[in-house]
Amino acid sequence: MISDNLVSIRREIGEASRRFSRCSGDVQLLAVSKTRPIVDILTAVEYGQYRFGESYLQESIEKIRALEAYSLEWHFIGSLQSNKTRLIARHFDWVQSLDRLRYAEHLSRQRPASLSPLNVCIQVNISEEPQKAGVCLNELPSLVNEVLELPRLRLRGLMTLPARCSDFVDQCRAFHKLYLVYKELQDSGIVLDTLSMGMTNDMVAAIAEGATLVRVGTGIFGKRLSN
Ligand SMILES: *Cc1c(COP(=O)(O)O)cnc(C)c1O
Repeated sequence: MISDNLVSIRREIGEASRRFSRCSGDVQLLAVSKTRPIVDILTAVEYGQYRFGESYLQESIEKIRALEAYSLEWHFIGSLQSNKTRLIARHFDWVQSLDRLRYAEHLSRQRPASLSPLNVCIQVNISEEPQKAGVCLNELPSLVNEVLELPRLRLRGLMTLPARCSDFVDQCRAFHKLYLVYKELQDSGIVLDTLSMGMTNDMVAAIAEGATLVRVGTGIFGKRLSN
C-alpha cells in the first residue's frame, strides 16, 4: 500500500508540475513519517524515498539511529523548544520550523563541528493565526538577517503551514503570498533554494504557486497513528 501511494503521489507531483509549467525535478517530496513505525519507513526507502520529516523528537531519534546505515535525509518539522535543540542539532540534516532567534543561536552553537552546517528554513505564519508557530511577515526580514550571521546554520528558504481550507483558489492565495516573500528575498541577493509548502490536501496548489518541496504524510502512509 505504501508503495502504491508513493507511486501515485509522485505521479500527482509530476502531473501538477507539467500542468503549472514547473520544470521536471523542481518539486521534491518529503515523506512525513511522524508516528509511523520503522518498517513503514523501510518500505518507503525500498521504493526510492530517502527524505523524511519528523515532528516528535524522542521517536525520531530512535528512528534516525536505527536507520543510520541507509544515509537518509532527516528534516525536523515539529515545534522547537530550548531543551530539544541539542539533539536536533546532532541528529537532523534540516530544521524547517525555525521561528525564533534564540533557537537559531542554540542550534548553531550545538551543531557538531564534524557535521556540515545545519540546513534551515524559517517557518512563516502566513495566515497569521494567533496559535500557530512561525514568524509573522513583519518579523521575517530581521530573523533572516540574524540567521545569515550564524556560522553553523545554512539558510535554505521558507516553510509554511497555512490555515486549513479545501478550496483550491484560497489555498493558492495563501501559498502565493509566501512565494512573493521568497522571491523578494531572492531578488535582494539572498541565495535561497527551498520553498517548503503543501501537504497531502493542498499539494497541487502549492506546486502551482512555486513550492520546491512538498511534505506528504497521510498521502503516503495512510491515516495517522496517534502519538
Ligand atoms: C504532519 C505534517 C505534514 C504532513 O501532513 P499530511 O496532511 O499528513 O500530509 C506536513 N507538514 C507538517 C509541518 C506536519 O506537521
